[in-house]
Amino acid sequence: MTWKRVIQYFLILILLSLIAFIFLMNRDLVRIYGGLTKKVDHEQFSRSAEKIAITNVHVLTADSRKFRPAQTVHIDNGLIVSIDSMPPSPGDIKIIDGSGKFLIPGLIDSHVHLFKSPNDLLLYVANGITHIREMIGEENHLLWREQIIEGRLGPDMYIASPRVGSFGRIEGWFMRWSQGFNTINNEADAKVLLQEYANQGYDGVKIYSQLNKESYQAINEIAPSVGLTVVGHIPWSIELTDLWNSNQKEVSHLEELMNALRREFGSIDGEEDAGQFLNFVDDRSKELAVNLFANNVAVTTTLWLTESFVRQKFYLDEVLAEVKLEYENPGISEWNERIPQGLGWLPLVNRYKMPDAASLSSEDLENRKVFWTVYAEACQLLLKNIYQGGVMIMAGTDANLPPAVPGFSLHDELESMHAAGMTT
Ligand SMILES: [Zn+2]
Repeated sequence: MTWKRVIQYFLILILLSLIAFIFLMNRDLVRIYGGLTKKVDHEQFSRSAEKIAITNVHVLTADSRKFRPAQTVHIDNGLIVSIDSMPPSPGDIKIIDGSGKFLIPGLIDSHVHLFKSPNDLLLYVANGITHIREMIGEENHLLWREQIIEGRLGPDMYIASPRVGSFGRIEGWFMRWSQGFNTINNEADAKVLLQEYANQGYDGVKIYSQLNKESYQAINEIAPSVGLTVVGHIPWSIELTDLWNSNQKEVSHLEELMNALRREFGSIDGEEDAGQFLNFVDDRSKELAVNLFANNVAVTTTLWLTESFVRQKFYLDEVLAEVKLEYENPGISEWNERIPQGLGWLPLVNRYKMPDAASLSSEDLENRKVFWTVYAEACQLLLKNIYQGGVMIMAGTDANLPPAVPGFSLHDELESMHAAGMTT
């Protein structure tokens, strides 16, 4: 064999290894977003065509203010046909005794991530959630929505576009491959991308922290003309006054507003700073409330998730034992140890763990605990103040981020909102 031949074989070997590596990486990217998990046969849950009566149940009125006692709810072919105080009719095949129980319209989770996990659609329905708002849309979601419209069991869906940020060429390519981001850097990019999103069937454009100011303003100008709403984070490149002058009518999450206030305040180091920061948030959030209300900007909560950060950093086992981990897509919760700061749930891969915890002094650890505790308390205070200021609040969970199990987590969210000062 000549040297030339050896080098040829060697190059072929390298090429084949590279192809195999890329194939395996791509496959793993599908797995860690839940795409290789066995799919539940959703046909087995198709809705019943028979006549059903739910008797003697308390029904929440349309304005959500009070319950009508002892009602009969008549259901035919999967749809409610009437609600009254009549007894069940002779044609009713199935009677469900609702004595001592309450019936409300479906719940909405305003901020979820399905990723590649269609089984979640069933978890939502099982938890009484009949409408979800997907905040990092992808083509699969548009397809599932079509199937639901045609009769597949699942919630109604609002679908925001993939996330948009401003990145350089190489970083942008990587962010797209690994996390589905789209990059825009100016008005011309924005025009092309938003038209594309509208054509694909998305309802809104999801803006992210790294978006530059020119692109932010361009998106806000163009979006209404192509029928898209602007939703998402407050980009680091803008001031709150830019938000008031924009078409962004929805901020996810409370945490984003709190972090904007934290940037105004400066660093929080220890108990004394923490106390001062809370006072600052109390004052400033009342002013924020006036602007949010005047500009008709709604805020999505994800409060329960924010409250979990300190617990995930310091008592992760306890938190994981409390949630319905067995319903979480194992692809997501188990993640991949080689991909840091991802969406993993379990101790080795947890998104919110402190990688440097072992090297911190007890004093540093105590300061971190103070920081993450006040981080959540500031969000609670912010919620209370903007709620009292009449701002539209939307319950959202960020489901599939640890430890928000799709469906179940909305009930935790509602409890957190109530604990922070909202009425039931
Ligand atoms: Zn989210």
